[in-house]
Amino acid sequence: MYTVIDGKKLAAEMRAEIKLSAEAFKKRVGREVGLAVVLAGENPASQVYVRNKIKACEETGIKSYAYYLPESVSQNQLEELIKELAEDNNIDGILVQLPLPTHIDAKRALELIPTCKDVDGFSAENAGKLSQNSDCLVACTPNGVMKALERYKVPVKGKKAVVLGRSDIVGKPMAMLLLNADATVTICHSKTQNLKEECLKADILVAAIGKAKFVTADMVKDGATVIDVGINRDENGKLCGDVDFENVKDKCSYITPVPGGIGPMTITMLMYNTVIAASRR
Ligand code: NDP
Repeated sequence: MYTVIDGKKLAAEMRAEIKLSAEAFKKRVGREVGLAVVLAGENPASQVYVRNKIKACEETGIKSYAYYLPESVSQNQLEELIKELAEDNNIDGILVQLPLPTHIDAKRALELIPTCKDVDGFSAENAGKLSQNSDCLVACTPNGVMKALERYKVPVKGKKAVVLGRSDIVGKPMAMLLLNADATVTICHSKTQNLKEECLKADILVAAIGKAKFVTADMVKDGATVIDVGINRDENGKLCGDVDFENVKDKCSYITPVPGGIGPMTITMLMYNTVIAASRR
């Protein structure tokens, strides 16, 4: 019998806790925790993400400062804005919504976000600290996965974890977090040979590849915990993950659905990071 990890419920619980921390910060410091959200251009998915982030700020008592820049924004204009936000004492976190317009050198712009305000946890310094298992702002999606495992008391220590995907924002930090939590970790990617055999060894299987229903029942060990990070559309345009949930679930002890699994946890962890960044500054 499997348990579905309810990311929506977990996220609501965590948001209530984050709100208490944000209120305590306001009492202590005399101002609200502040998150700057920068959106350049009119990518519809980015607009939805930004709207959801601003809504999450409202829910958690964080003051959001939204900056909407035109698609035609220059590298210089964007960099000047980031520099201003870096100096602004009311801003604890800076989030630049990706992807940026194609003429922008995103790496160069993002490098201007100070490590202490890098609430996405994407900077080389935060990623490096994570790999050294020191205190840092951790990338939101993998951190959300860890919170979900923690809250559902899924054992990690000594377990075999397999992460599908090696991106800087999900796969790699996910593997680091699992390693830091004493799992034995394998990272798989598009060039991995015998992928199915690797997956079958996993006590914890995290799928973050962006391929609809890629993980099938024959790739999952009996009793495994399966975490689905993917957000895709199936052949009928319906939202689905990287895991073939309906056919995989009966083999699992725990499984996350899409939607309603890791998605809601990701934005919640952004709020969590913002309050941490505020308290540390
Ligand atoms: P990327 O495209 O950056 O990375 C995908 C990774 O999957 C790469 O490492 C790639 O390997 C690997 N991969 C692709 N195809 C295969 C395959 N057939 N077999 C094995 N590995 C494969 O994606 P992201 O990490 O940014 O995102 C992954 C998924 O998670 C997407 O669906 C995205 O929408 C979703 N996502 C969800 C979030 C949430 O809040 N729930 C947040 C962020 C992302 P290689 O490196 O060799 O190319």
